[in-house]
Amino acid sequence: MNYQNNLMNIADPMVRFSVETVKAAAGLLKMIHQSTDWGTLQKSDRTPVTVADFSVQGMVGRLFEEVLPDDILVAEEKSDTLRSSEHAHTRAMVMQQIRSLLPQAAEEQVFAWIDRGKGEPARRFWTLDPLDGTKGFLRDGQFAVSLSLIEDGQVKLGVIGCPVLDADLLPGASPTGELKGKGSWRFPLNGQEEGTPVSVSDTREPERLQLLQSYASEHTDVLTIDRLMGMWNTKSEPLRIDSQVKYGMLSAGRGDLLLRLLSPQQPDYREKIWDIAPGWLLVQEAGGMMTDLDGKSLDFTAGREMRNNRGILATNGYLHEFALQSLKRVGI
Ligand code: AMP
Ligand code: MG
Repeated sequence: MNYQNNLMNIADPMVRFSVETVKAAAGLLKMIHQSTDWGTLQKSDRTPVTVADFSVQGMVGRLFEEVLPDDILVAEEKSDTLRSSEHAHTRAMVMQQIRSLLPQAAEEQVFAWIDRGKGEPARRFWTLDPLDGTKGFLRDGQFAVSLSLIEDGQVKLGVIGCPVLDADLLPGASPTGELKGKGSWRFPLNGQEEGTPVSVSDTREPERLQLLQSYASEHTDVLTIDRLMGMWNTKSEPLRIDSQVKYGMLSAGRGDLLLRLLSPQQPDYREKIWDIAPGWLLVQEAGGMMTDLDGKSLDFTAGREMRNNRGILATNGYLHEFALQSLKRVGI
């Protein structure tokens, strides 16, 4: 790899926009995480959402409004919950966060910036997960913010910000098309330092592999994971990590194989595009592989939900075919 060919030296405005946006968003996430009140409330699907989710989506929505007004943004949150009178406390906290950056911001404007993320997937669109791993955020575990650009069903750019992974690392990737083969990169969250390339591990022996899985057992199938680990005679315990941070770790060789098995409680769960697209690019460009559990390529043209794929298998590449065979053997 040509180390001179640094991503930050590439004049591509979309790469710069993505990295700078995720850096700013990760900084805001970290700042809110350090505060004492996260204004946590339940969404209609009974999952938690915080001041951080809304504030980051509002901030990024506003950046799109200003820099890329015609681009489509497909993001996880909506302002509806925040508008209801029972959530006045969380709303006031979101306004405080946004006004610390933009003192003149009005409530209706902030709602509109959040709802900038209501776009529908089209030929060209962006995905945003303002706070992935909200449960990790609330538990002092890992969490992330992620952004990707998809064009004609291909992920062109993907950035995952990991505010509390080591010394504020921000894995970033530069992608297909003009930038194809530029690899995956890692940037510090603070400062202007240039990125360093990352690559996947070269582990080939199942006994030596380090598995990455969700912290939340209800997001996967822990019994089958145990069975696989026994079959493979794997020595080390799986690393249980929340959020897309796992894709950053796999891309940097800190883990060899990542499984998103379907939970027996929710066998029909389909992945959300904002949870998968950024990591797919990071892993591919770092030399790894990412498919669904049947070995099928990921279809990024299916809308907000990836209804044409089941679960995720991501590996360093060497272990991919082997893992697919094992999944078949255990009836996955
Ligand atoms: P992780 O921390 O890796 O489990 O990933 C967190 C993501 O899992 C969140 O973005 C959720 O939207 C998503 N999620 C929610 N329910 C499920 C489920 N039943 N199976 C898999 N992922 C889920
Ligand atoms: Mg998510």
